[in-house]
Amino acid sequence: MAIGETVYVNNVREQLLAGRTRLADVLAESESDHVMRLLEEVDSALHRIDHGAFGVCEECLGTVEGERLLENPLARVCLDCLTPKQARALEYDLELAAQIQKGLLPPSDLTVPGWDISYHYQPAGMVSGDYCDLLRENGHLYFIMADVSGKGVAAAMLSSNLRAVFHSLVPLGLPVQELMVRANRLFRESALPTQYATLVLGKASASGDLELANAGHLPALLVGKSGVQTFESMCKPLGYFSDDSVNVATTRMSPNDTLVLYTDGVSEAENERGDEYGVDRLGQLLSSLHSCCTADLVSTCTQQVTAFRGNRERTDDESLLALQYTSPASGNGAHA
Ligand SMILES: [Zn+2]
Repeated sequence: MAIGETVYVNNVREQLLAGRTRLADVLAESESDHVMRLLEEVDSALHRIDHGAFGVCEECLGTVEGERLLENPLARVCLDCLTPKQARALEYDLELAAQIQKGLLPPSDLTVPGWDISYHYQPAGMVSGDYCDLLRENGHLYFIMADVSGKGVAAAMLSSNLRAVFHSLVPLGLPVQELMVRANRLFRESALPTQYATLVLGKASASGDLELANAGHLPALLVGKSGVQTFESMCKPLGYFSDDSVNVATTRMSPNDTLVLYTDGVSEAENERGDEYGVDRLGQLLSSLHSCCTADLVSTCTQQVTAFRGNRERTDDESLLALQYTSPASGNGAHA
């Protein structure tokens, strides 16, 4: 990203001004040194924008990394100019965050009777803005695949928040539509105004009955003997939709049908020519793998995407979840 891009800088300026108003409101209600300092930082960033110094490192006058500025418009120095102590602290924090995030994934040895389940979860950096989860409640299997807007720590924090939201809502036994409405409200309360999450939430019963809600996410793919059925998004992303706009699709899975959920790190992987891997190509591959167990299916998909990418760098978090309905009686394990 070129820092000089006017549209980008204008966007940041607007965001900072909006943030400034909120901070000033908070300060008007109660005094806080922390908020006061934050307000000073915002003013300083606005000053830098107005004087053409935004994105210029205050130490070396070089350029502050664009990715970092996207995440934090308040950054004043480039990574090279962080003191060794600051850099070490940053590294340590990130390692810890990565460890915590890993611990929040579904257990790799999760066994769900009647299902064969595998997933792949690969952050682009240390931490991921993807959220992949499985919950068992009242004889139902709930599963979630979500992608929080943005990247890095801010996205990862919000994906952890999303997990907490679903872990508190799912045990209430609400209908899927109500679950989505409540999650949307809770998410909106905790996210920054510019943040959102695309998400697929599914609920499956032991008989193979399936309910799916897709909020702005890539189509869920149901792979069966006769081909691949897609479940497209039916409303805006989480944090953006109105309460009455959630639709829930229903279907029944037959034994050996596999539902595949993924994030754009998979379907929008690009090769060296800039071509996108694409949902169609993924669908075709899945169609040829319909008789495979989920562990083979997931590893074949990720290998194919990696091969497609070639030497092109992976820039997005990559997640893929496959759930195969075996039968009400049998119970294969989950491999991850
Ligand atoms: Zn510098």
